[in-house]
Amino acid sequence: MKNLIIPPGKDEDSKDKKKKEELRENQIRLWISYLIFSLIGLWLFQQFIIRPMLIRELEIPYSEFKSKIASGQIIEVTLEQDRIIGTMKNPDTTDTASETIPFTTVAVPEGDPTLIEALDAAGVKYSNSEPPSPVGTFLLAYGLPLALISLIWYIGYRQMGAGGMGVGGILGVGKSKATEVKPENIGITFKDVGGADEAIGELQEIIQFLKTPEQFASLGGRIPKGVLLVGPPGTGKTLLAKATAGEAGVPFFETSGSEFVEMFVGVGAARVRDLFEQARQAAPAIVFIDEIDAIGQSRGGAMRIGGNDEREQTLNQLLSEIDGFKTEQGKPVIIMAATNRPEILDPALLRAGRFDRQITVSAPDLTGRLQILRIHSQDIKLSPDFDLDRAARMTPGFSGADLANAINEAALLAARRSAAAVTMQDFEAAIERVIAGLEKKSRLMNEQERTTVAYHESGHALVAELLPNADPVAKVSIVPRGRGALGYTMQMPTEDRYLLTCEELEDRIAVMLGGRAAELVVRGTISTGASDDIQRASELARRMVMEFGMSDKLGMVRYATQQYQFLSGDSSASASPETLKIIDEEVQRIIREQYQRAQQLLKEHRSALESLTRQLLVTETVDGAAVKQALAETNGRLTEQP
Ligand code: ADP
Ligand code: ZN
Repeated sequence: MKNLIIPPGKDEDSKDKKKKEELRENQIRLWISYLIFSLIGLWLFQQFIIRPMLIRELEIPYSEFKSKIASGQIIEVTLEQDRIIGTMKNPDTTDTASETIPFTTVAVPEGDPTLIEALDAAGVKYSNSEPPSPVGTFLLAYGLPLALISLIWYIGYRQMGAGGMGVGGILGVGKSKATEVKPENIGITFKDVGGADEAIGELQEIIQFLKTPEQFASLGGRIPKGVLLVGPPGTGKTLLAKATAGEAGVPFFETSGSEFVEMFVGVGAARVRDLFEQARQAAPAIVFIDEIDAIGQSRGGAMRIGGNDEREQTLNQLLSEIDGFKTEQGKPVIIMAATNRPEILDPALLRAGRFDRQITVSAPDLTGRLQILRIHSQDIKLSPDFDLDRAARMTPGFSGADLANAINEAALLAARRSAAAVTMQDFEAAIERVIAGLEKKSRLMNEQERTTVAYHESGHALVAELLPNADPVAKVSIVPRGRGALGYTMQMPTEDRYLLTCEELEDRIAVMLGGRAAELVVRGTISTGASDDIQRASELARRMVMEFGMSDKLGMVRYATQQYQFLSGDSSASASPETLKIIDEEVQRIIREQYQRAQQLLKEHRSALESLTRQLLVTETVDGAAVKQALAETNGRLTEQP
């Protein structure tokens, strides 16, 4: 049992208590289901093993028995209290059949006074037997199977460590299916991963820690445990994790979340335990869990049907394994996990000391694609005119896996026409095939969508650059970044801020709405791509009114009752209906004003918007300097004109 108990964290004692209770409930349910299972087994055992064992003879009616005595066919009988068993001549007289067969018949209730006489007359050997002891029968019928079941249970229990379920252990399903790759067999380093420099940079610390854990700790580094790699499929998350193990020279355990989701409650948890047991023995090591959302899905809200218990147990086991690492000084195990949907993960997984490091792995931009194409074409004979740079330009939206796939496909096409080298035409044909596949999976944006996203992000960037109080732009990108974002604009604060003025907040809102404003200014129509922007802008505007007292109409009164609930967006106001109406009006006013302001700015700098968008469509990612330059150039042109 003790393995299942989650060590209390700093701020989660009550949660853990609840979890423990839940676990105990699960245990009880487990035992009850085992009991039912056993009873059914017992019944089957009796029906099909014990009964046929006791009643194996041919049963004949008493009258037939009597007539068989008369005709001299009965050889020997034993008289029991309520039945007679014995042997008689086999009526089947073929050569192969045995001469005698056992039989049984039920004695008549009052006893047959003429029986002994008849037996004597026919010269049948007879004897009397003691009635079988009821205790013996009972033991045979119930005791034996019960003992067997208990034995199975006991062995299973021992095998699974604690709290598991017997059958799982015996059948070996509690064994983890993870594959261990020894350090010398990994053969992958960061050199084999293209276009992931940011992620690689963030992983350096992990490598440092795995290589020299003591030194790392003595320098006061906070000991890392879990790293969550977030990004769309095929962007090289598995590759990165493996390369991390390769760089650090530690064994790599690879498994997938779906391997832990099984029919039987307890099996997944047993597998988790087994996996970490293996990893600890090989420590220092990296455990990689692909598709962690299969086990780590949020527990709240969802309907509780079927496999939920199982997933919860597995998740709890995982959490306790992660928490349990503290004791393993000097022999660290790092858990890396990959997911495409971090938002559905159980918050317990993301808490401090667990998967508290998130590394975003996005689809590669132009430079990234060029690097990846270079890596994957190393062993392929390319014709001299093969232009890798052009190949990278031709493949926007491709993930690393798609690119590897395309190169491979091109090599196959070249081989099919027995060419000496892969040409650009081969690659183009290969791309078409890959694109057809991707479009089916709707993972590729069409050109129009890409342009819209480019305008949208340029809008954010330009408004941010133009407004005096907004943070400067660090990076703009139209490479999708998972979580439904089709592009992103990154702003870098120049300093830490603790107080924000009303003007600064307004500028922030204007930047958030800059994306939608650009779409409207250029296209005259708007898209669904701004829903996240709108949500954040409304939240901020609402806080300005209700918490910060920044509305003249409402004054410095706090209308939000408690701490504003960020996640639920619940601002549970304590105000009269009339005031609530004014609050709504004020929020709307702030949003409207800032939206107008963003539109105005973009109209004034329309040519900068066009030039930045054009540049984004080519290189997909630009830095802050490019934004400044786009503004400077077009401003220059404006002033040159009379
Ligand atoms: P994920 O785990 O993110 O779904 P994988 O790591 O399984 O993606 O990628 C599958 C394959 O695609 C890799 O084995 C590799 O050949 C190729 N690949 C993906 N991303 C990259 C990259 N950034 N650099 C080089 N190859 C990559
Ligand atoms: Zn946006």
